Amino acid sequence: MDTKLRDVLGDRTQKALHKAFGYVTVGDLLGHFPRRYATRGELTSMADIPIGEQATLVAEVVSVSQRPMRQKSGSVLEVAITDGTGLVTLTFFNQAWRQKDLVPGTRGIFAGKVGLYRGTRQLAHPDYELFESSELSAEASKEWALRPIPLYPATQSVASWQIGKAIGVALDVLDPVEDPIPPELATSQSLMDFASALEKIHRPKEAKDAEDARESLKFQEAFVLQCALVRRRHAQRSVATMVRASGDLTQEFVSGLPFVLTPDQEQVVADIHADLASGHPMNRLVQGEVGSGKTVVAAAAMVTVAQSGGQTALLAPTEVLASQHYRSLMATLGPDMATRLNPVLLTAAMPAAKKKKALLAAASGASHLVVGTHALLSDSVAFADLGLVVIDEQHRFGVNQREALRQKGTHPHVLVLTATPIPRTVAMTVFGDLDVSTIRTMPSGRSPIETHVVALDDHPSWYSRVWTRLSEEVVAGRQGFVVAPAIAPSVIEENDLVPVELTSEETIGEKPRALVTVEETLPMVRALPEFASHRVEAIHGRLSGDEKDQIMNAFHAGEIDVLIATTVIEVGIDVANASMMVVLDADRFGVSQLHQLRGRVGRGAHPGTCLLVTYAPAMSVARQRVDAVAATLDGFDLAAIDLELRREGDVLGARQSGVRSGLKLLRVSQDGELIEKARTYAQELLDQDPELVEHAALGRAIARRLDDSAEEFLEKN
Ligand code: ADP
Ligand code: MG
Repeated sequence: MDTKLRDVLGDRTQKALHKAFGYVTVGDLLGHFPRRYATRGELTSMADIPIGEQATLVAEVVSVSQRPMRQKSGSVLEVAITDGTGLVTLTFFNQAWRQKDLVPGTRGIFAGKVGLYRGTRQLAHPDYELFESSELSAEASKEWALRPIPLYPATQSVASWQIGKAIGVALDVLDPVEDPIPPELATSQSLMDFASALEKIHRPKEAKDAEDARESLKFQEAFVLQCALVRRRHAQRSVATMVRASGDLTQEFVSGLPFVLTPDQEQVVADIHADLASGHPMNRLVQGEVGSGKTVVAAAAMVTVAQSGGQTALLAPTEVLASQHYRSLMATLGPDMATRLNPVLLTAAMPAAKKKKALLAAASGASHLVVGTHALLSDSVAFADLGLVVIDEQHRFGVNQREALRQKGTHPHVLVLTATPIPRTVAMTVFGDLDVSTIRTMPSGRSPIETHVVALDDHPSWYSRVWTRLSEEVVAGRQGFVVAPAIAPSVIEENDLVPVELTSEETIGEKPRALVTVEETLPMVRALPEFASHRVEAIHGRLSGDEKDQIMNAFHAGEIDVLIATTVIEVGIDVANASMMVVLDADRFGVSQLHQLRGRVGRGAHPGTCLLVTYAPAMSVARQRVDAVAATLDGFDLAAIDLELRREGDVLGARQSGVRSGLKLLRVSQDGELIEKARTYAQELLDQDPELVEHAALGRAIARRLDDSAEEFLEKN
């Protein structure tokens, strides 16, 4: 499996596979599993082959000719075949080399989709197998016809059949493969051994082979992944670190709050306290809806750590959020605690003098709380005694960044906050090395948010109502957001939008409508008569940090009525007076993203309204997403729906999980039970054999599964 592809395949194929998929070893290639299988179908007689359908013919080559293409460069190879009842043409583009096999008189079996070209029935690029001897038993032909044809995820430069061929070569020369699954487990779970499973998923003789192989490989995937995660967790647990929970400052902080914590918040504060007291580094994810009160909980942890003399670094994804966090932490801490913790802000956009002061406060230990953006990761940032790392909005950061910050302390505790609710199976798969705490209930007294879908496909006239409603809100003294998917034509914020692929059902054949942009919306809204005296500004990722801060500050201060924005405002923006959220082209955002955006309003005393404006036709997948968001306020339900509607690769990017290639066969939305089962077995095994002394093959499989950074991470701990 570790043999290099270049030692097995031709130079061109190997390079093409490397370029398309980054594959280096035989193991990489054999892990490229078929997306699905086609069947050649029953044998058909040429006399009655149906146009447009898949047919399998046993026939003899009559003639072969090659001609240049009419319009383009290249050549067409045309092969006439007959079974005695009729004539069919096979066509191949730029594959003249097939001439040497397809000589007149050769018999074989041919399969493909039947087309009609200039009155002749033809198979373009058929799949075929030529008979060695002149006769092949009816039995054998039938078997061949029933054998599933694997269809691989392919690219423009590497076709499915080329991948299949390369895999065939690799399987033929494959040395014995070691099975990461311990034999007892394989028996109890009735799993195929690894080598057979690889053979059968790639070269099934019948559909059942492929299914069984898939099940076995899926179990293996879940098991190896869970072992890797459990192991990482063990490694973390075995590290000793400073106990950070002593004294009663935390209690003082909590009782000084202008509200009482919800039971969920109390539980999380207790979880964290126990972690900080354990003497091992905390690695905890706190998930809770926007506004559920995660920041307060994190602040309690910061206070605890500060009392032990330690510092907290809080990493926020954007400048806007970092400054907002800074402000809201100041407010949450209250003047007394703020004096003790002496929070400082550190961002890349800050004036040099201010930055220098902040750096000094961090390095000298004068500040117990340093809030910042990626700037915190820079080499110039040092801490006197970094005790706690808090990372806000996990989905914006990768494992590597979490690591970079950790390295600035000696096994600091780590607390990750996320407002994207994570279904249990995902948490177990992606964040399996983290403990998870959940804040489910919202603080009481929150105003509800009403969500409406403005379906312009059905009701174009509703568009003007959107602006009238927004204006009414401003007249009532409130503020509002208008979110557009793009800044300017074809300028979108990084990794923002649902790929068009997902909506392709609706757009096939048509040119997709251009995205609504911030640049066009700003003057449009300003020009509306009812907005004549409203103050409308725009904010997006192309502005400098300073400009963004200025605009956000003005919005906070109520100096701006309506903010036209991209998703830069998605996470954590907290303006109590904002009551209306208008999302244009709402179908271009993911379910969770829409939910996040909606969470920007209704944060104060005023009920929030969210208008999801879309052109997506009723019944389309795109519209389903938008309707789903309008139908519920429960972020956990929406996360589950999101998972169903999205490709999981997006949700579980390698970036996030530290797993080299994401998931292959495993689907967290469907394989929850399997994942739980694998987790249990992984735990049992690692409890008995933590160092994998008895399970060396499993150890190697785990190492292959983790990417470099994760391996490094294992070593460091
Ligand atoms: P999150 O970070 O989860 O989005 P925050 O911690 O920022 O939520 O809390 C949102 C708002 O709710 C803040 O103004 C905060 O002071 C307030 N808040 C937090 N917990 C409570 C509570 N238990 N009762 C009332 N208000 C709360
Ligand atoms: Mg928050």
